[in-house]
Amino acid sequence: MDGILSFSPSREAALRRLAEFLPDARRYAADRNFVRPGHPNISRLSPWVQKRLLLEAEIVAAARDRWSFESVEKFVQEVYWRTYWKGWLEHRPEAWSRWVDAVPRLRDSLSAERRSTLEAALAGRTGIAGFDDWARELVTTGYLHNHARMWFASIWIFTLKLPWELGAAFFYEHLLDGDVASNTLSWRWVAGLQTPGKTYVARADNIAHYTDGRHVPQTSQLAGAAFAITEPALPKVVPWAEDSLATRSAEGRAGLWLHPEDLAVERGELAGERFAVINASWPKLMAKKAGWSEAVTTWTQAALRDGASRAAAHFGAEVSSESSDDLAASLVDWARAHQLSRIVAFRPFVGPWLVEAQAVESALAQAGIALTWGRRAWDIRLFPHASRGYFPFWEKVRSAG
Ligand SMILES: Cc1cc2nc3c(=O)[nH]c(=O)nc-3n(C[C@H](O)[C@H](O)[C@H](O)COP(=O)(O)OP(=O)(O)OC[C@H]3O[C@@H](n4cnc5c(N)ncnc54)[C@H](O)[C@@H]3O)c2cc1C
Repeated sequence: MDGILSFSPSREAALRRLAEFLPDARRYAADRNFVRPGHPNISRLSPWVQKRLLLEAEIVAAARDRWSFESVEKFVQEVYWRTYWKGWLEHRPEAWSRWVDAVPRLRDSLSAERRSTLEAALAGRTGIAGFDDWARELVTTGYLHNHARMWFASIWIFTLKLPWELGAAFFYEHLLDGDVASNTLSWRWVAGLQTPGKTYVARADNIAHYTDGRHVPQTSQLAGAAFAITEPALPKVVPWAEDSLATRSAEGRAGLWLHPEDLAVERGELAGERFAVINASWPKLMAKKAGWSEAVTTWTQAALRDGASRAAAHFGAEVSSESSDDLAASLVDWARAHQLSRIVAFRPFVGPWLVEAQAVESALAQAGIALTWGRRAWDIRLFPHASRGYFPFWEKVRSAG
């Protein structure tokens, strides 16, 4: 088991970890691929960034303030990978919905032999050095190093010949940074679906080298080559492009709906708004629908409470945080009880919170209560460039300085 990790679900803990990591950011490019106990050579910021307890813009600014761009370029580039995946999925949301549909279907249709392979993989009982440790590390700590995620996904798909969708579900269940875009699209990338014809095949010597010899699988245990996985082309849609706040009516009493896709509301785009009240309710069926473990659910709920208490202090507004059977209906009741004419929220990204948001949107419309979606300038600026490969995306970022 790799060292003890601490991910306290608060913005304060995120800022502490960022400050601790910054002196090492310059060594990131050279060391990032080594998987070492406690993961000292990477930022380990992902659980906080995923909830936007810490903003991508804050991380990039902190790294660039401390070091020259050249010395932290690799690190900055990785932060932008997150934005790229999120923007890419906004263009092709079906990559997510197909995965959601496939998981129960594949689980139900596995042969007895595949099922026993799946059970061994989930329990870390395959006998493949490294793989078994990572399966247990994921469940115990809620985190895996990027390189271990790549090796694990590759062995899952090409050696164990299990459906990539079920591996993505295992990750999404247990990762504290579980992110619909980064997770689904990274699994698709390893499987060769994301960049057609380009797969990722884990090699025993590479694992042995980058784990400093702690995990040495036998070459004969691992698939030597990938096989082709294909799918019908994904339809492409035009994602949202503009800031609806720019065209909002500022009239009437407004309430803020806070959800775990953006928990630093007191910073940036919505910080200057006036909110009479805040709603940070938790939909009771959310964890079950999304497929989260108890640890992920508890962490996310605690993060939501942290975001709510900062928002309450910033806006001087009272917070409602019920556990609700029907979030959309409870937001309507809450808006009526507080005589709100308008609810404002950051628009969730493609994924389970967007499904909730769409139900909220139609319930509020029926009740005649206005809803304004806030969007981060970062997303508005960058998502439109994330419709093709990462290279043209990064070129746009670089050329904008
Ligand atoms: C199969 C697979 C599944 C993954 N699932 C997720 C997931 O559910 N959620 C998630 O946040 N990341 C996911 N990643 C990407 C990456 O592994 C993690 O973001 C990274 O390991 C987090 O550790 P860190 O914070 O120390 O990252 P660092 O290396 O310190 O990077 C800093 C930040 O940049 C972002 N980042 C870095 N690498 C990537 C990347 N390749 N893709 C997207 N963003 C990146 C993260 O927000 C991270 O916190 C996945 C990768 C693979 C191969």
